[in-house]
Amino acid sequence: MAENEAKPALNFIEQIIEADRKTGKHDGRVATRFPPEPNGYLHIGHAKSICLNFGLAQKYGGVCHLRFDDTNPIKEEQEYIDSIKTDVRWLGFDWGRHEYYASDYFEQLHAWAVQLIQAGKAYVCDLTAEQTREHRGTLTKPGKDSPYRTRSVEENLDLFARMRQGEFPDGSRTLRAKIDMASPNLNLRDPVLYRILHASHHRTGDAWCIYPMYDFAHGQSDSVERITHSICTLEFENHRPLYDWFVRELGIFAPRQIEFARLNLTYTVMSKRKLLNLVQARHVRGWDDPRMPTISGLRRRGYTPEAIREFCRRVGVAKFDGVNDIALLEHCLREDLNKRAPRVMGVLRPLRLIIDNYPVDQTEELTAINNPEDASAGTRAVPFSRMLYIEQDDFREDPPRKFFRLAPGREVRLRYAYFVTCTDVIKDGNGEIIEIHCTYDPATRGGDAPDGRKVKGTIHWVSAAHARRVEVRLYDHLFTVPNPDDVENGKDFTSNLNPNSLEKLTESFVEPSLAGAAPGSRYQFERHGYFCVDPDSTVDAPVFNRTVSLRDSWAKIEKGQEAKPNQGETTL
Ligand code: ATP
Ligand code: MG
Repeated sequence: MAENEAKPALNFIEQIIEADRKTGKHDGRVATRFPPEPNGYLHIGHAKSICLNFGLAQKYGGVCHLRFDDTNPIKEEQEYIDSIKTDVRWLGFDWGRHEYYASDYFEQLHAWAVQLIQAGKAYVCDLTAEQTREHRGTLTKPGKDSPYRTRSVEENLDLFARMRQGEFPDGSRTLRAKIDMASPNLNLRDPVLYRILHASHHRTGDAWCIYPMYDFAHGQSDSVERITHSICTLEFENHRPLYDWFVRELGIFAPRQIEFARLNLTYTVMSKRKLLNLVQARHVRGWDDPRMPTISGLRRRGYTPEAIREFCRRVGVAKFDGVNDIALLEHCLREDLNKRAPRVMGVLRPLRLIIDNYPVDQTEELTAINNPEDASAGTRAVPFSRMLYIEQDDFREDPPRKFFRLAPGREVRLRYAYFVTCTDVIKDGNGEIIEIHCTYDPATRGGDAPDGRKVKGTIHWVSAAHARRVEVRLYDHLFTVPNPDDVENGKDFTSNLNPNSLEKLTESFVEPSLAGAAPGSRYQFERHGYFCVDPDSTVDAPVFNRTVSLRDSWAKIEKGQEAKPNQGETTL
């Protein structure tokens, strides 16, 4: 056990890399890459891939490239490229000078396509998209050869050159590999290599009107960059024979592809197409809405890169698809924020409390501890006066059993301040409580009674005259069910959206030490959870996002599971 702790078990990818290094493959060199398609913002699933690829490069003294797989001019934009770079950096990784674009290889990819034509391994096909699909067959039915499969090399070279010159309309012809229309692997049934697309590319402009398919670009881009271990998600397992076919036929450097299970999270959708749909249909404010599983959304919500990296470490890499509990992600966040977030007092739903025997014009400075987990964080002064706000929930006129907070005639501790006893409840014409009155015991300053008297409840407060009014945004899961894709017939995942995923409180108050807190600063509001200043915030109108509450459902789950560790998963 102790030995195990000193040297964590290798995951299956590390085992492969270490075995390769032992045999001296690539002279022990390790080069990985993170290859996003710039057609959306990165999400927590990408974070897993980023941590894995950059993490392996770090561990084995190698490099990790950032490569944009930008082969589809229609869906890709500079905005996405910029956001991806910001997010990878924010997660704590650095690609140095290794920033690449598949579009930089368009000329090389074209030359390789010509090479395949010359070798009789590729042909120009005039079938329409619809006909190509029909010819393809199914898993149980072999495909049919295209009537254009037997074109001569000369004719193919001529047609392909004219495709490039822009002689033909979109969709009228494709270049296809000549492999095997009867292959049990559909990816090998003469896949399309190039399509005609008269569209401007965000980097190459109008230089091209034919574009390589992702499958023709991805593996060869790895090859150009001499990637040793090309790590991708499981759905590419049956593309591997095709990638291997390309590098073999072209006689070029062969990276080794290794597949791992993609990250799925409960209460979350992870496909970029669906996330784009949420943005475009305005179900959320944007890609960085704090309810989104995007890196920018998590950042805005108040997540730390450390928490995300720890989460990725703990979910590990596996060979089989599964779903991780979002409670684990939140648990990692709480663990991290618990160590670093200063404690403050904030009242979300205020109720006025007046201390009748406290001098009208007096203000005291009481001492509060900034972080009980970190003595070096020190203390701060919190102003106290006759009129305070407490949480509406901390008072009950008719307290149920086990309610130990304030009620008529009852004494509680005001955190860091005094014991107070409720003497009166004032209501408006509708019977709504508008304020409560108390008396305080001056001998209990700091929160302890010299006579040893105990109280069962401690509640937080802010001084009404000193507090800052803030807006607080409370978030819940974006979906009401663990698997948002589980829908009734005829409906789509948006039918599972949680109508109450955002609640805005505009009448909340925080202690004055938070005046001017910069966007991105994180705090623990005692008894409420962790909060982060939103970028919408201004000095005059501060806005706080609730990052996560204090309730840790994962800690409970984990306790219950201690006896049976997750089978089949290895940790990073
Ligand atoms: P999506 O299905 O959300 O559109 P994608 O795979 O098309 O995702 P890419 O931009 O191609 O998105 O992904 C870049 C890299 O991130 C790929 O190597 C991919 O394997 C990896 N990746 C994407 N989603 C996940 C996920 N959920 N878990 C782990 N890795 C992922
Ligand atoms: Mg992809």
